[in-house]
Amino acid sequence: MRALAILGSTGSVGRQALDVVRAHPELFSVSALAGNVNVDLLAKQANEFRPPLLSVGAPERIEPLRAMLAYPARIVCGAGGLLAATMESGAQRVLAAMDGMTAWPALYAAANSGLDIALANKEIAVAAGEPLFAAAAGSGARILPVDSEHSAVFQCLEGERSIDVRSIVLTASGGPFWDLSLEAMQRATPAEALRHPTWSMGAKNTIDSATLMNKGLEVIEASRFFALRADQIEVVVHRSSIAHAFVVFRDGCIKAQLAAPDMRLPIGYALAYPERLPATPDDLAPRRAIGLAGEKVTLTFEPVDEGRFPCLRLAFRALEAGGTYPAVLSGANEEAGRAFLQEKICFTDIATLVANSLDAHEGHAATPDAVAESDVWARGHVRAAILATAH
Ligand code: MG
Repeated sequence: MRALAILGSTGSVGRQALDVVRAHPELFSVSALAGNVNVDLLAKQANEFRPPLLSVGAPERIEPLRAMLAYPARIVCGAGGLLAATMESGAQRVLAAMDGMTAWPALYAAANSGLDIALANKEIAVAAGEPLFAAAAGSGARILPVDSEHSAVFQCLEGERSIDVRSIVLTASGGPFWDLSLEAMQRATPAEALRHPTWSMGAKNTIDSATLMNKGLEVIEASRFFALRADQIEVVVHRSSIAHAFVVFRDGCIKAQLAAPDMRLPIGYALAYPERLPATPDDLAPRRAIGLAGEKVTLTFEPVDEGRFPCLRLAFRALEAGGTYPAVLSGANEEAGRAFLQEKICFTDIATLVANSLDAHEGHAATPDAVAESDVWARGHVRAAILATAH
């Protein structure tokens, strides 16, 4: 029985993680749940899984949450609440599934203390990957990828030596705008961007998937997870999201991992690792899900059009620049994506604002403080740029 702290339990990954826990009550218990604003859902989850510790985003949400609980629990809030949920709840593994940098102090503490982290929080992997992985290497904490592509690479690398790895290839679905012209992308609405063809994800990830910044962040994430240089990572567009990643070995052999585009698979793998979760009752289901149950299947792979999707190149640029540039990329992108959702800017402005932030930033070494400060600086830079053009 493994006790889990789930940071971001009311979000898309958090809810699917609880689906996994619900399906395997003999393997997992929940020691802490942390949400931000969705107190109603957090209360519902708490009453089902009964964790002794709960965390909400702000102090004024503590009493409304307590009023909905059917059992006594300790309730904490804010970044300190996430730290308590991670370090004081008796968790044996923490799932980091929040957007942004809020969970950074909690994860840095976990990594320093040897607590295993299932990492779905892309912004932290990107902005603070260097100090996070260095801390984990020092303490022996395992950082397990939750993102489907990184889970795929991780699975392909099991039993392999890093010296034998030449490069990796991450697949991208192409997102909802893959077939749009640049002109149509300029007119695209948030509602259109939120309609993802294959994956069910939160709003932030879905906008990132439309710009392909999601894949750019994943490239940086992959370089942290697997200690690879920018020139060892490639991206191909694969519309059906069946093959999640490839690893190219130095002898010319290539391994791929294939699975249905269902986040519960990589989430379950990260929560259960090094075990695999017991099979579904229907042995044919995994094959049917990827089209291997008797019918003809065609998998297609095509290059990214960087003219229409400049965000991917920006991410490679931030990775190559190193230091605090990935933090600026991530912070500026999150802020610009939010402005697009609020209809303050047009879709193609997201890339422009991120590029301007990278141009204006003066980089530093990626210390824990510097990455947090650079994230804040980038968000401020984007907000100021939007205000300046609005007048
Ligand atoms: Mg992904």
